Amino acid sequence: MSDQHQYAIDLFRARVKKERARQLAKWGPQTHTPLEWLAILGEEYGEACQGVVNTWTQRGDISKALEELVEVAAVCEAAFADIAGAMMPPDAALAEEKK
Ligand SMILES: [Mg+2]
Repeated sequence: MSDQHQYAIDLFRARVKKERARQLAKWGPQTHTPLEWLAILGEEYGEACQGVVNTWTQRGDISKALEELVEVAAVCEAAFADIAGAMMPPDAALAEEKK
């Protein structure tokens, strides 16, 4: 893996962490049904698609598309935490972590 690739991964993780902090500050911990999470994720995914298409067709700045990909990941994290926290027994969650 190149240094540039590793830098991009580190940047992505830092941005996802920052986005989660922003979301938590704005809305607090969110609780939704799995189907509601899919709807929220679908909305963010659609924005990411739009950002990529706009960049591709208009030769625009990729930064908006990258921002939307970060938001997709942040919503995935929030959904996973909410769904796993609600539906997995605590012991199962810990066992998963040790794999
Ligand atoms: Mg968005």
